[in-house]
Amino acid sequence: MKLRMRITLWFTCITGIILLIFAGSMYYSASSTREKEFFNYLQNEAITKCNLLYSAGLEPTTLQKIYKSNRMLQIEAEVAVYDTSFSLLYHDDVNIDFVKETPELLKQILILGEVGFYQKDWQVIGLKHQISDQTYLITAAAYDRYGYAKLHSLLLTMIALSIPALVMIYISGIFLSKKALDPIKEITRRARRITATNLDLRLPDYHTRDELSELAQTFNEMLARLENSFEAQKAFVSNIAHELRTPLTSIIAELEYLLAKPRSPVELHRSLQSALTDARRLSRMSSSLLDLARASYDPSKIAFKNVRIDEVLLDARELLLNANAEYSVEISYNQNFTTEMVDVLTCRANEYLMKTAFLNLMENSCKYSPDHTCIVRISAESNSADKGTGHVLSIQFIDHGPGIPDDEVEKIFIPFYRGKNKHLSNGSGIGLSLTKKIVELHKGTISVESGDQGSTFTVKI
Ligand code: ADP
Repeated sequence: MKLRMRITLWFTCITGIILLIFAGSMYYSASSTREKEFFNYLQNEAITKCNLLYSAGLEPTTLQKIYKSNRMLQIEAEVAVYDTSFSLLYHDDVNIDFVKETPELLKQILILGEVGFYQKDWQVIGLKHQISDQTYLITAAAYDRYGYAKLHSLLLTMIALSIPALVMIYISGIFLSKKALDPIKEITRRARRITATNLDLRLPDYHTRDELSELAQTFNEMLARLENSFEAQKAFVSNIAHELRTPLTSIIAELEYLLAKPRSPVELHRSLQSALTDARRLSRMSSSLLDLARASYDPSKIAFKNVRIDEVLLDARELLLNANAEYSVEISYNQNFTTEMVDVLTCRANEYLMKTAFLNLMENSCKYSPDHTCIVRISAESNSADKGTGHVLSIQFIDHGPGIPDDEVEKIFIPFYRGKNKHLSNGSGIGLSLTKKIVELHKGTISVESGDQGSTFTVKI
């Protein structure tokens, strides 16, 4: 059964039960009011007749005549009067004598002063009445046919009204459940349209601060996380292609060179040596890229060890200059690193990934500036926030290139983004995003300052 039907039925049942309790209480209250009023009527009748007989001195036969004639037309209480020795003094109609007044009953009236009870459907009241110094025991009985008729009609009206009321409650239940569940329907409809190709779609948020809005927001947050990791995976695949292309191109070039014509053993050895170096680089790169892939899920899976950052910078420079002889990288220390301070140059890092990051920054500085020069400055700053190491290592990559416009500074770290100066060199827009990811993986930061006279990228670890 659908939730909507369940809500409707629950609503109808609960409201129906409340209606039933309400109607039952009304009927009960009407019934007890009738009973009380009729006992009052019987009491009045009993006292009035006794007063007429023994105070006003009316003839018993007159009263009996009135009783007989009234009985046919309206409710008339049948009254009997006894004295305290239980002898009958007056009776409206001894032939009818509905209430058989036993000595026990009269005794009870005498002791209690007043009793009321039912005999079949008839209500009977017995009471003690005093006129001058004479005590009378009076009984009065009658059937409240008007009262019962009213009660009966009230019951019929209630039954007749409760059927359309239940139908109306059921219809309102359908309306209410539709109103409550419509947003869920819309959320379901929208969620069905979300696939791997349109993860940017979001569920409707009604901003009503209710449970449904909370559910939609939670779903949207989950979708945002999914979209991010999906995008990250896509970017990562592109990163791999980008990183593998250079050594592969170099191996292909060497092999083509060898195959172009017969080569001397020296040339053969040199080319094979070069191809082997590239293949080893490829192998190292693929395992480090695998590290990076793992890092996207769990950084604890990456192999970190103590490395000297200045040595990693030297290796990166060597790699860059081997591939681009016209480039120049000048590495210098901003301060004297004493023997104790050498520790500051040692960080826990993944050597290959760090080298990749530094290589990207050096390459960018060289390729975008006309003098193809990158100045690298290493400095250590004391870090008051970190009481353990006490130092932050800062590496600046400075160039005298065209600089980066202010509106591009934030965007250059987005995967595949290439700036307006992209015509200055080939590229794919992946280098800086990869560098940023690596630096963040090492709990470092990367920032850039740029003007017309060049750019400075600062990595802090
Ligand atoms: P690529 O260099 O392959 O385009 P990157 O991610 O390395 O990709 O860089 C993104 C963009 O940032 C570049 O397209 C370029 O516009 C800008 N950029 C990066 N480094 C520099 C730099 N040193 N000087 C000027 N522009 C730079």
